[in-house]
Amino acid sequence: MTSMSRDSKGYFGEFGGSFIPEDLQNVMNKIEEQFLHYKDDPEFQKEYEFYLKEYVGRENPLTYAENLSKRMGGAKIYLKREDLNHTGAHKINNVIGQILLAKRMGAKRIIAETGAGQHGVATATACAMFDMECVIYMGKVDTERQALNVFRMELLGAKVVAVEKGRGRLKEAVDEALQDLIQNYKNTFYLIGSAVGPHPYPTMVKHFQSIISKESKSQILEKEGKLPTAVIACTGGGSNAIGAYAHYLDELSVRLIGVEPEEAPTLSEGVPAVLHGFKSYTLLDEEGNPKPTFSIAAGLDYQGVGPEHSYLKESGRAEYVTASGQEALEAFQTLSKLEGIIPALESAHAIAYAIKLAKELSKDDILIVNLSGRGDKDVEQVFQMIQNK
Ligand SMILES: *Cc1c(COP(=O)(O)O)cnc(C)c1O
Repeated sequence: MTSMSRDSKGYFGEFGGSFIPEDLQNVMNKIEEQFLHYKDDPEFQKEYEFYLKEYVGRENPLTYAENLSKRMGGAKIYLKREDLNHTGAHKINNVIGQILLAKRMGAKRIIAETGAGQHGVATATACAMFDMECVIYMGKVDTERQALNVFRMELLGAKVVAVEKGRGRLKEAVDEALQDLIQNYKNTFYLIGSAVGPHPYPTMVKHFQSIISKESKSQILEKEGKLPTAVIACTGGGSNAIGAYAHYLDELSVRLIGVEPEEAPTLSEGVPAVLHGFKSYTLLDEEGNPKPTFSIAAGLDYQGVGPEHSYLKESGRAEYVTASGQEALEAFQTLSKLEGIIPALESAHAIAYAIKLAKELSKDDILIVNLSGRGDKDVEQVFQMIQNK
């Protein structure tokens, strides 16, 4: 790697920034410049909104979970239905935004990296629709464990590159994607799937995911005539959570609660460190390397977290709590039985905490839980877990 540059932009308190080689910094500067230009461009906004409506299926509902609320006997629980989006989760909101930006920048090729495959599938989906060449980097070990997602991506026309270097996991896939970007930046855009990475990615991903809270805020005001007591979201890299918070950040009466897996408690037990080009809370082992995590929810199984969450934790604006895999598994079944909605295992962590909190609150309180995705992808895994108990 060449010399590191440290940029003064893109900080949330002491977190975030850009800790990358100089040649990559030039690419990031260009992306930042174009993002800042287009994000307020009326034509760009119109196009983004068009695809969210016609392709993703927005606006999605804010559903009152009446059976669940009555059973728990406390606060009213509302679910923001990101599970109803095309491809079944919130990730597509960000993918559409970044591809539209990539097109404006003249890119012909989209690259991304994926661990469990969910971001890879969302990226391959939108690339098919926008007729963009798509290359997905994935650790060799992950391609073997997620063979069906590899097939999905290939079905959608993407090329999946199995990275054999190192331990053949997400970290090596990220390194390969960065190498590709350095070599091909003239026609290639690197699409990052969560509110992580060097500046401007955390800011850009938040912008495209903030549609979640833009909608939920006007929906709750229409239904209840007041703001919620709390907004609750599961937190892996933190993109669904930051999108669910964005329009409430200045509403200080609204509690913002992020739920991490007990098995990957980055904000609860990590320390500030630089990982993957940005500074944030990180889980490290004794030697200072990223510590392996073992959440049952693949999307939450990550040692890092978006830098703005580190800042929201330190400033006290948001609270971060944990739910165990076992609690998530129970919430997965509870929501299915009571509401006829099978949640993603990631989202089930947020549901688990909401159930606990609702009981402590009164009927005048309102909780909005961001249902980040649907659980179809997890049914087989849950079946195995219940069978093997
Ligand atoms: C990827 C994923 C997550 C975790 O990502 P964030 O960036 O933390 O939102 C959560 N829920 C679902 C359904 C996912 O697919």
